[in-house]
Amino acid sequence: MDLKLEKLAGLYEHSAWIVEQALARGPFKSLAAFKRACAEVLDAAGRDAQLGLIRAHPELVGKAAVLTSESTREQSAAGLQQCSPQEFETLQRLNRDYNARFGWPFILAVRGPRGVGLTRTQIIETFERRLHAHPEQEFAECLRQIHRIAELRLAEVVGERIAEGEQTWDWAEQLAVHSDTPEHLTVTYLTPAHQACAQQLAGWMREAGFDTVDIDAIGNVVGCYRGTGDRWLLTGSHYDTVRNGGKYDGRLGIFVPMAVVKRLRGRRLPVGLEVIAFAEEEGQRYPATFLASSALTGGFDAAWLEQRDTDGITMQQAMRDAGLPGTLEAIAKLARDPKNYLGFVEVHIEQGPVLDAANQALGIVTSINGSHRYLGQLIGQASHAGTTPMDLRRDALLAVAELALFVEAEAVRLGCVGTIGICSVPNGSINVVPGRVDFSLDLRAPDDATRDLLRDAVVAQLSGICERRGLRHELRPTVAANAAPSDPAWQERWEAAVEQLGLPLHRLPSGAGHDAMKLHEILPQAMLFVRGGNQGISHNPLETITAHDAQLCVDAFSHLWEAL
Ligand SMILES: [Zn+2]
Repeated sequence: MDLKLEKLAGLYEHSAWIVEQALARGPFKSLAAFKRACAEVLDAAGRDAQLGLIRAHPELVGKAAVLTSESTREQSAAGLQQCSPQEFETLQRLNRDYNARFGWPFILAVRGPRGVGLTRTQIIETFERRLHAHPEQEFAECLRQIHRIAELRLAEVVGERIAEGEQTWDWAEQLAVHSDTPEHLTVTYLTPAHQACAQQLAGWMREAGFDTVDIDAIGNVVGCYRGTGDRWLLTGSHYDTVRNGGKYDGRLGIFVPMAVVKRLRGRRLPVGLEVIAFAEEEGQRYPATFLASSALTGGFDAAWLEQRDTDGITMQQAMRDAGLPGTLEAIAKLARDPKNYLGFVEVHIEQGPVLDAANQALGIVTSINGSHRYLGQLIGQASHAGTTPMDLRRDALLAVAELALFVEAEAVRLGCVGTIGICSVPNGSINVVPGRVDFSLDLRAPDDATRDLLRDAVVAQLSGICERRGLRHELRPTVAANAAPSDPAWQERWEAAVEQLGLPLHRLPSGAGHDAMKLHEILPQAMLFVRGGNQGISHNPLETITAHDAQLCVDAFSHLWEAL
């Protein structure tokens, strides 16, 4: 790859040294590898140089800023020159407040994740939100935005094409038009919006060149693209969402293989590809989750058909209303015979901050965490907040507080995660010592042994706290899910694919559950993660990926499949 300093000197604002030092690390296998080198140079340059780079940037619509030609074009392309007087005032105020709080100018890649420009409203909303960020996190976010600006400038200079990444991104936008609620993205099992998504996906799969496309008895959209042999690679992810969710969670794992098939234009590979858009994973409408992948593994529970949604509609009725048979016989037929498949792979947005913080576009999943969940209750003695001396209290809330800090310390020590997400004082009062607390425990680890160690330590600690404080407790297990370690051979295939892109390997466990966790029961599986922007926030409308990262997913998937 032939990259010349004189063409690339403007990638980083007034800071050609970054490109110069990065180029010295060449030659590069890919643009992604060069971008990675730039990020490493800046990482190694230290805080002062990083701050200098941030300060070399102009304010958005700054009055006194001396803009480079690149910045001028980007800001005017985002329509920042056409601000209304009110928007102009708002931006000036934000610039002032931001600078007063952080001591550097606000940096945002105004061309956005697709490269076509954010709206002024999006820019102002992002500005308002980031004004309240933690200073260290905001500093890091500014550097990430600077790398994104450089990525877009580089693409322009070298005429980079990322057609499949853009297609993937556009599919995500277009599918998000269908929602149960107009103001949010919410697509729950078998609602009209959900059925519209299935029809839309089926239509796109046909256009992309799949040989057969069907909607099965559970509502999955299944696209098959034959290979020259008779073995298949199984892939896919879910298209339902949580309430007020993001556009990429699950869906990306459907779009990426679709884009790969589309790019083949009918060319055949030795192994066929079966892509499943899973109808249900999130457990929003009915208490049961992973309905769709459970059907594939033969683990669909007959009792689920009788579950009711909040309107009292049984799952079976919802299926019949959607034109599906709604019988256990039809669902049982969906179980796959592992003999026909080499394995299962899934591409998914990380849904966490790890890759974004590490400036890594792709991550190799080592294991899907196993978990223990409990609902608990601590019972002490409610008493007068004014008259009960501190040493004579039996305060249930303090016990949970103590437990929460222990969960934190122990999870850190064991390299896993633990959360008390619910903690409430029923009928609490401002002047009453809490006599009872309802709380939850969510403990997760990449392997079952560590998960159980954490559980045992937390339970023992809880007993100790109760004894010392004179409390009672109840703990009711609600979930015990085994970890699903990636199959070593399939993990290596993802690693080889990422290496072919010229990117370093970043391995991480998945803290969230995924369809691959279910398929794990019948097939070897491994997942690829892509970073989410906005510090990886997910199950939230702020969930975002760039078209560039989507392209890397498509390329990695392509490499993995072609190598089989
Ligand atoms: Zn998901």
